[in-house]
Amino acid sequence: MAIKLTFPDGNVREYNENITGAEVAQSISSGLAREALAVEINGEVWDLSRAISADAKIKILKWDSEGGKYAFWHSSAHLMAEAVEALFPGTKFGIGPPIEEGFYYDIDMNGHSLSPEDLQRIEEKMYELAKRDVPYIREEKKWEDAIEYFKQKGDPYKLELLDELKGETITFYHSGNFTDLCYGPHLPAMGKIKAIKLLSVAGAYWRGSEKNKMLQRIYGVTFPTRKELDDYVTRIEEAKRRDHRKLGRELELFAFHDVAPGAPFWLPKGMIIFRELEKFIREELDKQEYLEINTPILVKKDLWERSGHWAHYKENMFCFEQEGETTYSLKPMNCPESTYAFNFKTRSYRDLPLRFSEIGRLHRNEVSGALGGMFRVRQITMDDAHIYCRPDQILSEINNLIGLVKNVYHIFGLEAQFKLSTKPDGAMGDAALWEQAEASLARALESNGLAYTVKEKDGAFYGPKIDIQIKDAIGREWQVATIQLDFVMLPERFELEYVAEDGTRKRPVAIHRAIFGSFERFIGIITEHFAGAFPVWLSPVQVAVLPITDNQKEYAEKVVQTLKANNIRVELDERNEKVNFKIREWETKKVPYMLVVGAKEQEHTTVSVRQHKHGDKGAMALAEFAEKIKQEYLSKSLPA
Ligand SMILES: [Zn+2]
Ligand SMILES: [Zn+2]
Repeated sequence: MAIKLTFPDGNVREYNENITGAEVAQSISSGLAREALAVEINGEVWDLSRAISADAKIKILKWDSEGGKYAFWHSSAHLMAEAVEALFPGTKFGIGPPIEEGFYYDIDMNGHSLSPEDLQRIEEKMYELAKRDVPYIREEKKWEDAIEYFKQKGDPYKLELLDELKGETITFYHSGNFTDLCYGPHLPAMGKIKAIKLLSVAGAYWRGSEKNKMLQRIYGVTFPTRKELDDYVTRIEEAKRRDHRKLGRELELFAFHDVAPGAPFWLPKGMIIFRELEKFIREELDKQEYLEINTPILVKKDLWERSGHWAHYKENMFCFEQEGETTYSLKPMNCPESTYAFNFKTRSYRDLPLRFSEIGRLHRNEVSGALGGMFRVRQITMDDAHIYCRPDQILSEINNLIGLVKNVYHIFGLEAQFKLSTKPDGAMGDAALWEQAEASLARALESNGLAYTVKEKDGAFYGPKIDIQIKDAIGREWQVATIQLDFVMLPERFELEYVAEDGTRKRPVAIHRAIFGSFERFIGIITEHFAGAFPVWLSPVQVAVLPITDNQKEYAEKVVQTLKANNIRVELDERNEKVNFKIREWETKKVPYMLVVGAKEQEHTTVSVRQHKHGDKGAMALAEFAEKIKQEYLSKSLPA
């Protein structure tokens, strides 16, 4: 019997029944067969060695795919477990899944705690075992036989897992001397694992519950080549160097304290960045005729009942009791309240679009374990807006928004990527409106010359959306802005209406959108993106003035006053230290410009300019320098 396999490019090929993914890859090219790690069958990742018995959609997965990496790291966890068992017989195994970057295994070593030397030995053993290039063999087991196997072996954790799998197909994977209970998928063989690094050991309660025993969790990461491991190590070190929590402290931008988990204390220098961003976004919105509003933070629960948050989002809200009854909450979103600005008076079709922006302070109850610097906070300042428009205005509004997003991110040197999420099953709202809206979103992206990916059926139940991701200076991706259309949530629940041209009452469409997302997170991202060396317009201190001796004190004062008169943020370093010492110190503070002033500069009313990371730029007339900084500030130019 022949089966038909459909490839991602739409090509259909016929194969004999029970062909494997590996054989399919080989039929295309031996290069692909060499690089193949796993195969995707109808959206599910399979072993390359598994037989395909019916028509299917097929995709050969290599290292560049999520599924390929998943199989690779899954297999690596088994390899690590085999190494642990070889070196420490009697170790009991919990779970060992792949994670975002690498894998871990939770193990119980009967009181032995792993030392760095142990990790080293395990790593070496893994290299040794991988060289055998033995296959990962999948075996379907009867539940009773699986139980018997782990009873014999004496692995209580696996038995506990099996307990919950009664009645299901149980799969074992054998690799070398190790057998594991696992769904897979895995690599065809271990030889593909060429580079290994065990990263750390941490305590982890069995199944995440503190009522259970504390196990040891070994984290590791593996790669198909040595070079990829080297790149990974460099990337991790670079990310550590750029860590915004560390830079925030060193540059005195913001700090965290146990008294307010999940909320930063903004220090004066960080507040300058915050204010510059606010000013920038307000100026941009003014140009686009937004109207700024501000709505209450503490609101009655009636509002959330009406918006639907009470039923679906209550766990994430901070609520307050009054006379034994929950009556108020801190707003987790601005959306519902913006409808009060719309409904404040009767709106005509001529009033639309109405673009209400709000820099709102939100509170969301993130579990404390999930909090991490600025990237996960409980108090969020959002650059939010809700646009109310007629259906025929969707295209032009989306067009404007995409232009705005593109321009804003360009200023920071961040590359934006766009993803369009379409109508999910069970969506609400008029079908024709959905169609028109999706077409408008696609057309707006296309007319802006943007490549975008489509996430089928990934829209919210109340409208399609565009997600915007950015790539920072070291290639990390961040989800930031969203443009969300809404036919239902605000318009229906809050009974929004405008008087149409023919005198009838119609529902407007709402567009929720944020550009930075949250100021906290965005400032965290750009702190890491710029590694603390902000462009002039954002730098808390733009210029440091460094007199060479006490004799230039008066002239240095004059330099400072001149710059201040030009609204330049300047600091004078009058300390009785050698100028080279001062230069080194201001270099670590990442101030964009230093001005060295000595007798010669004083005589000619000049300054000797040093630029961060670029060193000596020569002498310049004081007035000329002030003008240069003013221009850099206004143009928001990026550091060279
Ligand atoms: Zn596995
Ligand atoms: Zn909203």
